[in-house]
Parts: sequence; structure tokens; C-alpha cells
Amino acid sequence: MRGIFRKELSTEQLEILFQSDEKCYEFLANLKWSKGFICRKCGNTNHCPGKRPHSRRCTKCKTEESATTGTIFHNCKFPVSKAFYIAYNVCKNKDDLSTYEFARRLSLRQMTCWNFKTKIQHALQQMDSLTDGEKLSIRKILTS
Ligand SMILES: [Zn+2]
Repeated sequence: MRGIFRKELSTEQLEILFQSDEKCYEFLANLKWSKGFICRKCGNTNHCPGKRPHSRRCTKCKTEESATTGTIFHNCKFPVSKAFYIAYNVCKNKDDLSTYEFARRLSLRQMTCWNFKTKIQHALQQMDSLTDGEKLSIRKILTS
């Protein structure tokens, strides 16, 4: 999880991510397949574009993997850009925003923000129990 924001992002980059779901998917896809695509099902390394934004489809078994699969953003019920905003602020712990504040800034329900914040905190706790070797693996880190 923390791996997502390990690299320092500039304010401009963050502004773009927080305003565009498309850019968030692109960001996740680049991170997830930074060492190339490997099909989770058959291990094939060839892919073609999938149906969803920045998803990839295995050319052999046709399994499609979205940019959010295996990440905390998978099955998120609200826009991924808003989820990014919460995740970033929780991970960075810059200012400890309350879920009421998140809700106000993002026009979401407080309960929605609370649920997602809790999910991130759980993922971070799990991260802390990993060994350094495991932490090196971005794949592991991304898997919530
Ligand atoms: Zn495959």
C-alpha cells in the first residue's frame, strides 16, 4: 500500500491524480506492470488492451485484469480519484484529517470515508508486519 506513494509526487502530479479517474488508473497500471505484464492465471507475458480504462487482457487465456485488481482500490464504490485523495492523505499522515473532513471535501458520505480509511489503515498495519524483503516487492505491497 505505502508503495503506491513511496515515490514523492509533486503537487502538480497529485492535483492531476485527484482530479482524474483516468489518470489514477494510468498511474496504477504503470506501477503494477512496471516490470512488464504477467497474466495472473497462465503466466503469459503478452497482452492487449482490455475493455476498462488501462486494464490489460492476456492474449492467451483472454483473462482481463484491471488496473485496480489486487489493490486497495479494487471494488471501490466511489470514484477512484477520491479514493486516491483519502489514501494519499492517510498514508502520508500529513494532517490527520477526520472522516468528516474527507466527506466535506470530496462530497462523499462520512460513513463511506470512514470505511475506506479503515481499509487503508488495516492495509498499512499488515504492511508493517512484512519483512524488508517482502516490502521490496511492489506486487506484495499493492496487494491489500
Ligand atoms: Zn493468461
